[in-house]
Amino acid sequence: METGPATALAGIDSRSFRVWLQTTEERKNIEEGRAYYNDPSPVPPPEKHTPSSLLQCHRKLVYRKENAPAESEMAHGILWVGSRFEEDVVLPYLRDTVADDGLFVTNSLYVDFELKSESGDLTVKGSTDPVVVDADGTPVLPTEVKTKSSLEYLDEPNEHHKAQLHAYMVGLSEKYDVNVKRGCLIYGGRDAFDLKVFDVEFDEAFWQSTVVEWASDHTAYRLDSELPPADSRFAWECDFCDYRERCGKGEIKCQDSASHGLLPEFEEYPRQPLLEYLDAHDAKLTPTLAQRYPNLCEKYEVYDWSCNQCGTRIEWESSHLSGDGDRLCPTCADDDRLVVLSDPDLKEQTANGAR
Ligand code: SF4
Repeated sequence: METGPATALAGIDSRSFRVWLQTTEERKNIEEGRAYYNDPSPVPPPEKHTPSSLLQCHRKLVYRKENAPAESEMAHGILWVGSRFEEDVVLPYLRDTVADDGLFVTNSLYVDFELKSESGDLTVKGSTDPVVVDADGTPVLPTEVKTKSSLEYLDEPNEHHKAQLHAYMVGLSEKYDVNVKRGCLIYGGRDAFDLKVFDVEFDEAFWQSTVVEWASDHTAYRLDSELPPADSRFAWECDFCDYRERCGKGEIKCQDSASHGLLPEFEEYPRQPLLEYLDAHDAKLTPTLAQRYPNLCEKYEVYDWSCNQCGTRIEWESSHLSGDGDRLCPTCADDDRLVVLSDPDLKEQTANGAR
């Protein structure tokens, strides 16, 4: 077999990189005893919260928890940089810094505690970032580590990061029967590779009136199966939201959509989130997406094109429909009406099994 630069180059491209990355992650999950990470995420109970989701947009979280199809790829690069920064830079830095005081640093501790709220008993479960501990392993100072593109204009910690750190303080205090009243938020700048550190004191009023109340409201939305308002607490959330179109803040004509179903005529779903959605809901492709990803049709079923005037259904790859220009409803055409066939709407998809 002939080998050389051309042979090597033929295999190096973005598609093979994505496949390699995905396969590597799945294999790692299996090898580390977490094969279930490769399955679709189960919908968490309404009472359950995680420290990292506190204070985020209620609607966005409902979409995410109910496995609505994401409209953009996961920010793997940012997550990877964040975790490398924490493990390779901050953790050794903290260890060296506190060693002279007879203190140690653990990678992470698990918190799992209950909260009383107006919506009933809630639980908060999750893993902390590095925690400074004493020689007995008792927590002394929890940290939360984040990276940002730049720290130039960062003058105070973000409120939701403060909430996350408060959850660690409450959870660790309860678990170890101590009084953890201070934490530290560490931001790393990806441009200049520098740090900004904020000393955060536990604030009971903030915890009760802002964080616990938020968690109570969120649980209430989920218990009532109510779509929360399109009203994010932080303006930046909408700019980076994976559900902008579904929510009604994007480009297409769509508003307040429920969590289930693929947006009609929307062809921008990236492949991986689309696969996750299809597997999580045992769902079908819309004809629009079948045209975009024809090789997925071997594994997943496809809805028919649908006429929203007369209800006619036409198989998505019918030989009569060769392109957009020809995608007219034949029944309406017989009555001299030109109606373009479309994807089934969300209601129809839900009625047809897209749970
Ligand atoms: S677009 Fe904004 S308001 Fe809508 S779900 Fe996303 S974050 Fe929330």
